[in-house]
Amino acid sequence: MTLFPQGSATAILAAMKHTLLWLMACCLQLCLLTTSHARPADTTFPTLNAAPDAAEPMHVGNRMGWLTDPTRQLTLSDVEADGQPWRAIDRPTPNFGFSEAAHWFRFRVQVPGQRPVDRYLELPVPFLDDLQVFHRADGPHTRQYAVGDTQPFDKRPVQHQNFVMPVTLQPGINVFYMRLASTGTVEASFRLWPHEAFVADSNRENLANGAVAGVLLVMMIYNLFVGFSLRDGNYLLYIGFVASYLLFYFTLTGYSYQHLWPEAVHWNSIAISSFIASTIAFTSWFTTVFLRLRAFSPKLHRLMLLFGWAGCALFLASLVLPYAWTIRVGTILAIPVAATALVAGYWRWASGAQFARFFCLAWTALLLGFVVLTANKMGWIEANVWTNNASQIGIILQVVLLSFTLADRMNHDRARRIEAQEAALAHERHARESSQALVRAIEESNRELENRVTARTADLNEAMSQLQAANHKLTELSTTDALTQVRNRAFFDEALRNEISRASRHGAQLSLVMFDIDHFKRINDTYGHPAGDACLRAVAHTARQSVRRAGDVLARYGGEEFAIVLVDLDVAHVLELIDHLRTSLQSQTVVFDGQTIRFTASFGVAHGTPQPDTQGEHILSLADQALYRAKHEGRNCVRHAAF
Ligand code: GH3
Ligand code: MG
Ligand code: MG
Repeated sequence: MTLFPQGSATAILAAMKHTLLWLMACCLQLCLLTTSHARPADTTFPTLNAAPDAAEPMHVGNRMGWLTDPTRQLTLSDVEADGQPWRAIDRPTPNFGFSEAAHWFRFRVQVPGQRPVDRYLELPVPFLDDLQVFHRADGPHTRQYAVGDTQPFDKRPVQHQNFVMPVTLQPGINVFYMRLASTGTVEASFRLWPHEAFVADSNRENLANGAVAGVLLVMMIYNLFVGFSLRDGNYLLYIGFVASYLLFYFTLTGYSYQHLWPEAVHWNSIAISSFIASTIAFTSWFTTVFLRLRAFSPKLHRLMLLFGWAGCALFLASLVLPYAWTIRVGTILAIPVAATALVAGYWRWASGAQFARFFCLAWTALLLGFVVLTANKMGWIEANVWTNNASQIGIILQVVLLSFTLADRMNHDRARRIEAQEAALAHERHARESSQALVRAIEESNRELENRVTARTADLNEAMSQLQAANHKLTELSTTDALTQVRNRAFFDEALRNEISRASRHGAQLSLVMFDIDHFKRINDTYGHPAGDACLRAVAHTARQSVRRAGDVLARYGGEEFAIVLVDLDVAHVLELIDHLRTSLQSQTVVFDGQTIRFTASFGVAHGTPQPDTQGEHILSLADQALYRAKHEGRNCVRHAAF
């Protein structure tokens, strides 16, 4: 038992217009023409036995007599007349290809016993235009049926997608004549069914075709959602292809006429052509867009576009031109389209486009389906549930695999996008690392620079402080008397000017003391010049004990003469302090080279409160005059003058 009626599978095959099969059919037809004359009468008008309790259908399609009527003029009585060139059908599937002629068939059924037997005579080729059945039993009484898709669906004696006629076989011999005429292919796979078996088989067929429709619808709806959410035109082309194919298939199997447009006789007669055309168009466009042929092979791309537009044109033509023409063009066009799609797919895959692999599998599945079906129908391989339904399995596989194809390419694209993003991220990371390294290098060099600057600054500061120290020392040296280590005259003159102006600003008292060693020449003469130097150092040392306050200045004024500036001291205190110095010098002894030297000194003091116009020279000359007086008045004494 086949899952689908043998006839509808053949119909799909024929209508999918595999030229191969069509050509084979033509060849077989040619063979029959040349070999039929030798057939004995029982093969051109066979008598079949109808067992009343049969549970299986009787396949009469390949056991009938066959008569071609190219004129389409012959009547029943014409073909019943003797001398007509009846031939036997000797092929497994009685398919006569596209034929302009009318075809007559005949067979006899013998019913044993006395009771009539009810049967359905079925021709499972729903797209035939015109079928007439003549059933004669009991002599001249004839029952006649006229069906075909040129009549509205509800005119059919049995409301079924195939042509089904209830016949009551009378005991004895029943004679059947059938006349078939169609603008499409002509097939005559008649079957005689017991009622229960027919109902059961119809149910199975409905279930199976429902499954095909279900799978295809689900794939359409699923991909419609995916396509919308991805905004990808590929999906619409894919859906166009599946929808076209689904409508084609259901028109071919008679379901569309039964359920979708039972009144639309004209439309039904051309719909197969229209759907083949739209299938061709969508297949071509889907193939070129999906495989990205424009960039890959512009020639192939143009060819597929051409096929697509040819499909479009054919669709429009199918609405106005005769079905017999458009179905032939569609048939012939479908072959190169399918072949080119297959070749393009494999070429693309071989050129490294991984996303083309499911596309190739899909088309291969479809092709294998039809190869297997062809081989099955030609009797080359064993018929079973798989081989009988190879084309349906092929198309389901194709539709499902094409859906995978879309998803696969989406994944492929996404993987490439992710790769690109990762590469971009890696570049960005690299760039960031480089810039961070650069920043680090800059910071490092800044730090180094800072360190160097700090080091240099420290060096500089060090040098500066050394310079300052050197300067200070230089200043000290330039203002210090080398022999006695007290201030020299240059410093004293400057200090005297400053102290005079300061004291004049504050109204303070100032004293200038000049003192000179008595008879120093003699010391030099007596003890030698170095001994004189030692005495000068001793005088400086002793005088420094008396001049200790800040602001007071002691200096060697020249030779063995010293000068002192004392500020903010009244005259009495000054005289007391100087007299104390005088006695200190008097009592002091200098031991030089084993000899003890003693000496005295004379002091001249000028005292007063300086005015802004008071000159240092004036005070100096007063002190000098006082010293002169001390020398003249006996030495070793203090004289003073006021200013
Ligand atoms: P009077 O009591 O009048 O001051 O007598 P005096 O000898 O000290 O007077 P005078 O000014 O004539 O002599 C000063 C001497 O001081 C002359 C000079 O040789 C000596 N003298 C000047 N400077 C120095 C010095 O740096 N070292 C030594 N050893 N002698 C010096
Ligand atoms: Mg002197
Ligand atoms: Mg002297």
